[in-house]
Amino acid sequence: MTEPVATEVGRDFIRDIIQADLDQGKYREIVTRFPPEPNGYLHIGHAKSIALNFGIAQEFPGRCHLRFDDTNPVKEEQEYIDSIQADVRWLGFDWGKNLFFASDYFDRLYEWAEQLIRDGLAYVDDQTQEEIRLSRGTLTEPGRNSPFRDRTVEENLDLFRRMKAGEFANGARVLRAKIDMAAGNINLRDPVLYRILHAHHPRTGNAWCIYPSYDYAHGQSDAIEGITHSICTLEFEDHRPLYDWFIEKLPVPSEPHQYEFARLNLTYTLLSKRVLTQLVREGHVAGWDDPRMPTMAGMRRRGVPPAALREFVKRIGVAKANSVVDVGMLEFCIREELNRTAQRRMAVLKPLKVVIENYPEGQTEELEAINHPDDASAGTRKIAFGRELYIERDDFMENPPKKFFRLSPGNEVRLRYAYFVKCTGVIKNEAGEVVELRCTYDPATKGGNAPDGRKVKATMHWVPAATSVPAEIRIYNQLFANPSPDASNFAADLNPESLEILADARVEPSVAESNATEPMQFERQGYFVRDKDSTPGKPVFSRTIGLRDTFAKEVAKG
Ligand code: ATP
Ligand code: MG
Repeated sequence: MTEPVATEVGRDFIRDIIQADLDQGKYREIVTRFPPEPNGYLHIGHAKSIALNFGIAQEFPGRCHLRFDDTNPVKEEQEYIDSIQADVRWLGFDWGKNLFFASDYFDRLYEWAEQLIRDGLAYVDDQTQEEIRLSRGTLTEPGRNSPFRDRTVEENLDLFRRMKAGEFANGARVLRAKIDMAAGNINLRDPVLYRILHAHHPRTGNAWCIYPSYDYAHGQSDAIEGITHSICTLEFEDHRPLYDWFIEKLPVPSEPHQYEFARLNLTYTLLSKRVLTQLVREGHVAGWDDPRMPTMAGMRRRGVPPAALREFVKRIGVAKANSVVDVGMLEFCIREELNRTAQRRMAVLKPLKVVIENYPEGQTEELEAINHPDDASAGTRKIAFGRELYIERDDFMENPPKKFFRLSPGNEVRLRYAYFVKCTGVIKNEAGEVVELRCTYDPATKGGNAPDGRKVKATMHWVPAATSVPAEIRIYNQLFANPSPDASNFAADLNPESLEILADARVEPSVAESNATEPMQFERQGYFVRDKDSTPGKPVFSRTIGLRDTFAKEVAKG
C-alpha cells in the first residue's frame, strides 16, 4: 500500500476521503469531534487535532463537537475541563451548542453492556489485572481463555449488576468482551469494557463505581452523536477492528468510521501529558502556563499569537506516517506573524549609562518614533531625548575587534530616531568595569541623518535615563537541551539554561504605560509580551521569540 501524504497546504488524505464520501452522497453533513481527556492542559499536538477536526467542519458542510472523554475519574479534574474550553476558543474555534461529555452516555453504555452479556458477547472475569495481562499472549503466541469465560448469561448479568451496585472492591472483577483470545490483533483478545473504580467523578459524582474503557466508550459516543469521521492518531490504528466490532454488534443509532493520522512530534519537545503533568508536579516549571511549556496556556502567556499556531499546523499538513517536525518551523511561523502585527518599541536589556556632554543640562526634546515600519496606520509616538541615556551594554566595546561597528572610543554611531553620537570617554569602577560612557552628539544630525552625507555603520537603540522604566525581562530557551528528549528519563535532558532573567532592564515609557496584552517588538532584540507577574512598580516582560531566524537560513541552504 502506498502511504498517502500531504501534498499541498490545506489538502490531505483525510479531506480527500471526506470529499469522496460527499461526492458519493454518503453523507449530507460531515460531523467530526475533538475528544480530549480532561487529565491535563492542551498542548500544541492537540492544536493539530483541533485545527483538523474544526477545520474540516468549516470547509465542508458540517459541524465539530467538543467531547470530553471523561471516563477515568481518578485523573480528571474540573480545572482541566475549563482550561481545555478556554484553549480551544483561544485557538479560534467554536463548538457552538455541541459540547458533550462521554459521562452523559454512562446509562446508555451500561445498557449496551448488558445487551452484549445477553447476546453472549461479554462476561465478568474474576482474574486479577496481572492474570489478565499474563494470559493475553504475545504478538507471536495466542492468549489463553479465562477460567471465567464460559459463565452463563444469568451469572454474568447478576455479577455485572452487583459490580455496578458497589458490592466489590476496586480491581476485583472486570467486564470483558468475548471475542477471540487467539486473534492476531491483541486488541481483540477479550478487551476490558468496564472496571471497578470507587472514585468521585467531576460530573457524575458518586453515581458510578464502574467506568467504561476508552475502547468501549469512544466509538459508541461517536455513534450516539452521529459522528461521521472519527479522526484519531496512529496509535489507535490497531484498535479500529475493535471499534468496528462494537458498532456492528450494538444497536447504535449511526455508523461512524475511524481514520488515523500521524501525531505531531517536535524537536526539543515532549508532548506527552504524563511528562507535562510531571514537569508541573515536580516543580521543573512554574505551572501549566509556564512560557517554556508546549501547552497552549504556556504559549499564550508567552505571547504566541493563535494565528501563528494555526499557520504552523496548516504548513505541517496531515500525513499517515510519523515524523518529527523541527521546532524552528514553529518559531518561523511565530516570527512571521509577529513581524507583521507587533508594534515596535525600544528597550535596553542590559543598560549602560551614557552622558552626552555637549547636550544642555536640564533640556529634553520629543523625538518621533514610528510604531511599525510596514504599517503606517500603526502611527508614531514621542520619545524624550536628553543628556542622559542608556544603551545596550553589548553595543559598546572599549577595545573592539576589526568588524565591530557599534560604539567604541572615537567611533560614531546613530541613535535610532535621534542623533549621531561619538564616544569620547569611558568611566570605570574600582573593579575596572565600564560603568558609564561620555559622548558628544552632532546637533545637525537630528532624525538620524547627516547633512554632509557622512555615514555611520551602526544604528543602536536606546532609552532615556530620566523617563525609562525599570523592568524585568525573561528570556526563554528550549526547555530540553536534547533535540529528542527521552520521555522515560526526561529530567536528565532538561536544559539548565531554559530561563534567563535580566532584572535591570529599562523600557521606554510607552512600553510600561501600555497595559497591552499584545506582544511588541523591542527593536534589535525580539518580541516581548507583558507577563502576569508584573507589579505596578516593575513590569515583567517575557520574550516570545528572538529576531534571528536560523530556520529560514537552514532551509535556504538546503
Ligand atoms: P497524551 O498521549 O499526551 O496523553 P492523549 O492523546 O491521551 O495525549 P487526549 O486528550 O486523549 O490526549 O487527546 C485528544 C485528541 O488529541 C485525541 O484525538 C488525540 O489523538 C489528539 N492528540 C493528542 N496528542 C496529539 C499530537 N501530538 N498530535 C496530534 N494529535 C494529538
Ligand atoms: Mg488519549
